[in-house]
Amino acid sequence: MPAPSFCLFDTAIGRMAIAWNDHAIVHVQLPEADPDATRASLLARLPDAHAGTPPQEIRAAIHRIRGLLRGRPDDLADLPLDWDRVTPFERQVYEFLRTIGPGQTTTYGAIASALGRPGAARAVGRALGVNPFAPIVPCHRVLAAGGRPGGFSAGGGVATKLHMLAIEKEGADATANPVADGRIGTDRSAGSQIGAPAAATDVARGHAEPATTGAGDDRHDDDGHDEAMMEQAIALAQRAAARDEVPVGAVVVCDGEVIGRGFNRTVGRHDPTAHAEIIALRAAARRLGNHRLVGCELYVTLEPCAMCAGAIQHARIRRLVYGAADPKTGACGSVVDLFAERRLNHHTKVRGGVMAARCGAILSGFFALRRN
Ligand SMILES: [Zn+2]
Repeated sequence: MPAPSFCLFDTAIGRMAIAWNDHAIVHVQLPEADPDATRASLLARLPDAHAGTPPQEIRAAIHRIRGLLRGRPDDLADLPLDWDRVTPFERQVYEFLRTIGPGQTTTYGAIASALGRPGAARAVGRALGVNPFAPIVPCHRVLAAGGRPGGFSAGGGVATKLHMLAIEKEGADATANPVADGRIGTDRSAGSQIGAPAAATDVARGHAEPATTGAGDDRHDDDGHDEAMMEQAIALAQRAAARDEVPVGAVVVCDGEVIGRGFNRTVGRHDPTAHAEIIALRAAARRLGNHRLVGCELYVTLEPCAMCAGAIQHARIRRLVYGAADPKTGACGSVVDLFAERRLNHHTKVRGGVMAARCGAILSGFFALRRN
């Protein structure tokens, strides 16, 4: 077969690439961190491709891909794709997925069942991991079980996936580009403390304090994930203590990846709202280019107050995990339980008491030092 041609093109989520032959689209490359990386990713898949000028049909396809990524509901289902480089099973998965239109989602398991292979969800996931046609074959519309975002192999990872879904649901106008803006910590009100990665964490599995399970817990932590994330929140709390702020730290996690960090800054910033959770939520929302953090988890070392509980609910956080209880202002059951109020909360499950003794010791140590 003749070598394909390719070109780069700009979209609302960054610069993409498309490759074609004389009858169909051979490859579409989602944005990587920069255009050189996008080109390199395409050439890694198509080493024989060479730069070219797109013919009319490809220009039309580019126009429609751009439209989709600006929020225009176009299923792109009629664009011709070249199947020569995919396996028969991959082709089945991709052709089925093209029936899932903008704004809809499905799951790996549902695709497997639809293809008559229930139990092949992992094989579906592998096929989507090498999908050469995103977003024409819309692998961003495939979620893991339980509404979790699942994986995404394109640049920007799962943040890009959630960004694309958000565009389809709400339009692209107000959203930032999480790929070009792939760093955390551009929030002016939060400033430098979220810019740097958290101190290296030495995740000690099995080191966790006994956890008391809060109301609404949706799973028992059997893989150390909650403890690993809480370690990051603890490291942030220690940075607050170093600045003479009440040591509370928080991270927002999207499919296992930390996408927002914060620690308490109320004194230094003269800001009564600068709680760790608020700062972490702001950073995560900027990172995703979306005020809703659907599917995300928030980890915080101290039971959230009423303000933060409200913000967590506004953000549609899927799951809240906190460490120590706060008998003075805790809004997850210690003083009030805003998450048990079904008229307010439909989204957030809560698990409390994770590494509670360590989280609490940081606070009590801080106040003991202050008294001296
Ligand atoms: Zn708070």
